[in-house]
Amino acid sequence: MLSIPKGTKDVLPSQSYKWQFVEGCARDVARMFNIREVRTPVFEHTELFARGVGDTTDIVNKEMYTFQDKGNRSVTLKPEGTAGVARMFIENGLASSPLPMKSFYITPCFRYERPQAGRLREFHQFGVEIYGSPSPSADAEAIFAASAFLKKLGITDTRLEINSIGCKTCRAAYNAALRQYFEPHLAEMCPTCRERFDKNPLRMLDCKEEGCRRITAGAPAILDYLCPDCASHFESVKKLLSAQGIAYVVNPNIVRGLDYYTRTVFEFVSTSIGAQGTVCAGGRYDGLIAELGGPSTPAVGFAAGLERLILLMENTGVPFPAPPAPAIYIAGMDEGSRAKAFALCGELRAKGVAAECDLMERSVKAQLKYADKSGAGYVAVIGETELAEGAVNVKRMADGTSKKVSFASICDYINNVISGGNNNG
Ligand code: ATP
Ligand code: MG
Repeated sequence: MLSIPKGTKDVLPSQSYKWQFVEGCARDVARMFNIREVRTPVFEHTELFARGVGDTTDIVNKEMYTFQDKGNRSVTLKPEGTAGVARMFIENGLASSPLPMKSFYITPCFRYERPQAGRLREFHQFGVEIYGSPSPSADAEAIFAASAFLKKLGITDTRLEINSIGCKTCRAAYNAALRQYFEPHLAEMCPTCRERFDKNPLRMLDCKEEGCRRITAGAPAILDYLCPDCASHFESVKKLLSAQGIAYVVNPNIVRGLDYYTRTVFEFVSTSIGAQGTVCAGGRYDGLIAELGGPSTPAVGFAAGLERLILLMENTGVPFPAPPAPAIYIAGMDEGSRAKAFALCGELRAKGVAAECDLMERSVKAQLKYADKSGAGYVAVIGETELAEGAVNVKRMADGTSKKVSFASICDYINNVISGGNNNG
């Protein structure tokens, strides 16, 4: 028996409507904000992520799916979406296209992690990237889009947490303060934190180890070290959020997992799905495009984990729309009737009506049972009498009422009742 790789999941036919709903909401929100879709390869040169995500991150250090291809190049399955979009932006000279470039992606991501609820090795992200604007309004726009997405899904129990992690200037003073604070505690901290102490002490604040968390809780807050420009940027972002009625809390411990973040960072956190509570995370990364060799370009964005969102919706009873179902099922009693059912389905489908008939050579009774299970809104049974008459009783499954309809007008009839909102599909 072949089984699915650890940390990956199938989406079954009975479940895919949930994915379509979530992705549909993402696309709707993108349209409202005039954010255009982009698609980048699932694999890239390893170096892109090493440079673009940062070599003090867990992603680059421990989680990447990296392999040599047959041409002996080192390639990596994308662990996140931003680096690929940044590469696309640079490679296609999009800095000279009208800015800001507002783009989104829906993509699988791959990280070698210990699988648990809400943590997979292949998962999916809806991400938004806004390139070209240094203004706090771009930070706010990213947060508005994320918030609109959650709202559209019907999710209400998340908390927006924001922070600013400053720029190169203020970070230097802050790193010195962090080193001074952590120095006496180093022996009690995990090996990764000890390594971060030298390379990038800010990342120590992101440690998930219980022991380290107790120590980081007392660390100096970056907000006390922001330079005047970063401080006023953060104030403006907060004002813009308040002006649109977006509630937030300032959490000085959010630093985000990726190295390229500057200034604003934010997370939408749910209290209903346990430890993996961050459903959406983002921030500003003004240094990234230049770091990858492009023209210095400010950037801000976010990514939302789709598995976690679906899990959250299931756990908290946020309703999904009804699963799709055929508008009509047409059963046939004998060979001639089946042929007619098949032909009618063809006509209905050509007019945009979802119609189904038997492919299993089943008895009428079994066909009707299948129709019921499939959730068909209407059912019609064709036999010799119906063939002779050229008409059939079309039964509305919701209440059992039926109406005789001629074969010639069945498309119009179904289209009418559907547009009148009377079917259940
Ligand atoms: P975490 O702290 O939970 O590991 P992260 O900081 O690594 O998250 P990001 O790189 O910011 O996560 O990714 C954005 C979003 O993608 C996360 O908020 C989460 O919803 C989702 N996500 C990240 N890693 C996974 C994973 N292994 N499985 C499922 N979803 C994930
Ligand atoms: Mg992670």
